[in-house]
Amino acid sequence: MTISENYQKIREEIPSEVRIVVATKGRTPAEIEEVIEAGATDIGQNYVQEAEAAKKAVRGDLAQRVSWHMIGPLQKNKINKALPLFDIIQTVDSLELAKEIDKRIIKSGKEFIPILLEINIGSEKSKYGIKPDEHERLEEYLQQLAYDIAQLAHIRLVGLMTMGAFGANPEQYRQDFYRAKNIFDLLAKMRLKQVDMKYLSMGMTDSYHIAIEEGANVVRIGTAIFGPRKNV
Ligand SMILES: *Cc1c(COP(=O)(O)O)cnc(C)c1O
Repeated sequence: MTISENYQKIREEIPSEVRIVVATKGRTPAEIEEVIEAGATDIGQNYVQEAEAAKKAVRGDLAQRVSWHMIGPLQKNKINKALPLFDIIQTVDSLELAKEIDKRIIKSGKEFIPILLEINIGSEKSKYGIKPDEHERLEEYLQQLAYDIAQLAHIRLVGLMTMGAFGANPEQYRQDFYRAKNIFDLLAKMRLKQVDMKYLSMGMTDSYHIAIEEGANVVRIGTAIFGPRKNV
């Protein structure tokens, strides 16, 4: 099957209201062009440098047709470079990072940027994102964080992102996604000004079916579209 066929097959099998962010780390500009021509609307990048190279190399009309999502950890010293490249940052995991982004937005030529809070729902040490295990009162902590982010003039909190535990079994994924959905609902219920909790981003190649069953309306898929990664 070609990239194009893979994308279209997944697009047809999942509900139309679920956004597919195509995870493109390690893929060539030609592969990214092919998936956009097949109808992809959203491209995910893990690295600022790679995103910059991809956006230069991909044909301009195709690059402009899609939204570009930062789905990898964003280092402070890369924010200035990242802001003009991305339409949305899915990986904000602290007030500190949100403030750093907020400070730099105007200079980037944007008025604001939509972000998702990243929760490391499995509390895996090796991963980025807010770790539930590190907060005794997780719900209160997240509500305060959402409130504080809502005060930043150039940041728009629009949802939650999570990765399942690495190599989890289906039941573990389901439990983790269920918990993330509850947190998402809790933050949505706050009805904060300048906050619009509309995206719940969870599920990858091995877990997107479960994620959608548990309420995801954004999934991030790489391998099922492009095949196995070679060296990333
Ligand atoms: C690579 C990646 C994905 C996609 O993973 P696949 O298993 O290739 O579908 C999703 N989200 C993030 C943050 C990634 O880095």
